[in-house]
Amino acid sequence: MNASFRHDLLQFSELLQQTADYAGDFLSHLHEEKVSKAMPSFPAAALPEKGMGAAAALEAFDNRFGDHLVANAGPRYFGFVTGGVTPAALAGDWLAATIDMNPADRSAVSYHIETETIALLRQLFGLPEDYLGCFVSGATMSNFTGLATARQWLGAQQGVDVAADGAAALKAVHILSATPHSSVYKALSMLGLGRNALTLLPTLPDREAADLQALKAWIAGHPDQPFIYIASAGTVNTVDFDDLQELAALKKEHTFWLHIDAAFGGFAAVSPRYRHLLNGWEAADSITIDAHKWLNVPYDAAMIYTRHPQLQLAVFQNPGAAYLGDPAANFNYIHYAPENSRRLRSLPAWFSLQAYGAEGYRDMVESNIRLARQLGERLVQSGHFRLLAPVRMCVVCFSLNQPADRLQEHIHLFLQQLVKRGLVYLTPTVYKGTPAIRAALVNWRTTDQDIDKVVHELETIATAISDLSAIIGNN
Ligand SMILES: *Cc1c(COP(=O)(O)O)cnc(C)c1O
Repeated sequence: MNASFRHDLLQFSELLQQTADYAGDFLSHLHEEKVSKAMPSFPAAALPEKGMGAAAALEAFDNRFGDHLVANAGPRYFGFVTGGVTPAALAGDWLAATIDMNPADRSAVSYHIETETIALLRQLFGLPEDYLGCFVSGATMSNFTGLATARQWLGAQQGVDVAADGAAALKAVHILSATPHSSVYKALSMLGLGRNALTLLPTLPDREAADLQALKAWIAGHPDQPFIYIASAGTVNTVDFDDLQELAALKKEHTFWLHIDAAFGGFAAVSPRYRHLLNGWEAADSITIDAHKWLNVPYDAAMIYTRHPQLQLAVFQNPGAAYLGDPAANFNYIHYAPENSRRLRSLPAWFSLQAYGAEGYRDMVESNIRLARQLGERLVQSGHFRLLAPVRMCVVCFSLNQPADRLQEHIHLFLQQLVKRGLVYLTPTVYKGTPAIRAALVNWRTTDQDIDKVVHELETIATAISDLSAIIGNN
C-alpha cells in the first residue's frame, strides 16, 4: 500500500470528522450565502506526483474553491427546478458513498434498499403496485428509459424487434406531445428516433396543456397507427398539466403508449389539494419523476416507473456475462436500466422518507405552493411586474411591465443585476413568445421571510432599471 493511502487509512475517522465540520460550517451559513458569484479564471492545475493526503486535500479544496461556493441548495435559489438537500438525505448520501455498493440483485442488501425505496415512493405518490420502478440519474434519463421502452413497444406493434434490429427497422414512427420538456428531444436524439420525430400538438388557449381535440383529430387521420404520446404533468414554465383523465379514457379506445413526464408535477400527488391534477395517471405505461427536485435529495436521482418489464428487459438486458446471471430468470436492476454499475442513489431518498414521512412532504409541497402564490400576488401589486400565467403550483412565470420592444433588453439588465447581487436566483424563459422570468420554489428551507427579502430585492432592481431607462429614454 502506498504511504499516502496508508496514512489516510490510519486517519480515517479524523478525516471524516474534519469533513463533517467543514460541511456543517457551510450549511450553517447557507441561508445567508450568495446564490451567484462571479467566477474567476482558475489557473490550470498540475497533478501532484506525491499525494498530499486527504486532510491536506480538504485544505487545498477550501483554498482554491471555498470562496466560490454558492447557495444552490439554499432557500432563495429559485432557478430551474432544483430542491436543496434535507439533513436526512445528506446523511443517506454520505452512507451511499460509504457503503459503495451497486444495487443489482437479491444477493445484495443494496438491491433490497432500492426496491424498498421504490415501494415507499409508490405509496407517497399513490401509484399502483404493478409499476416496476428503477432509480436513474435524473429525469432526462428517466424520460430516456421510458421512451426506450416505448420504442420497443412501437416496434412490437409493427412486428419489429428494435432492440435486435435497431430503430431503422421501424416502419413508421409517430410521437406526439404538446409542451414537451427539452430533455424529451434529447432523449429522442439518443434513441435514434430523432428530434424531428416529434409532432407538436396545439395547446388549449392561454395554456401549455394539450388540446386533446387536436389529438383526436390526429388519431382520426391516422387510423390503426400505433403511436407514443408524451404527456406533461407539470410544465416548467407554468406547471400546466395535460388532461390525464381524458388521455386515460382515450387509451381505452385507441392503441398508444402513454408516457407521463411528471418530473416535479408528480408531487401534486402528495397533497389532497392538488392530487386531482394527476387523476388518470395510473393509466400510464411509463412515468418519469425526479428525486433531486421536489424530494430534496442531492443530485443525481430520479425514478422511472413502467408497466412493461418484459419490454424494458428486451431493451436494457446485459446478457452473455455469466457473472450477471440469466436476465430472464433472476431479477437484476442491471437488466432494466441504462447503467450497469450504479451508485446506491436510493439511500438518500430512503432516509428522507423515513425522517419526514408523508406529512413532511405534504407540508413542504403545500408551503412551497403557498409561497409561490404569495410571491406572484406581491409582484403584481408592486406595479413593476405582470404574471404571464396563474401560479398553478410552485412556479411564478412573470415579466416586467415594459413595452414589448424593450422587454428583452430590460429582462437582460434585470437578471444581470440580480446575478451580480446574489440574493435570489431566477432563470430567464420565453413564454408564448414573451421574454419572461421564472421562479421555481421547491426547497424545504424557503420561508415567508425569504419571500419578503425576494420581493424587496426584485422591486429594488426593477426601480433602478426603470429609472435608468427613463434617463436613457430622455437623452
Ligand atoms: C427537470 C425536468 C426534466 C429533466 O430533468 P433532469 O433531472 O435535469 O435530467 C425533465 N422533465 C421535466 C418536466 C423537468 O422539470
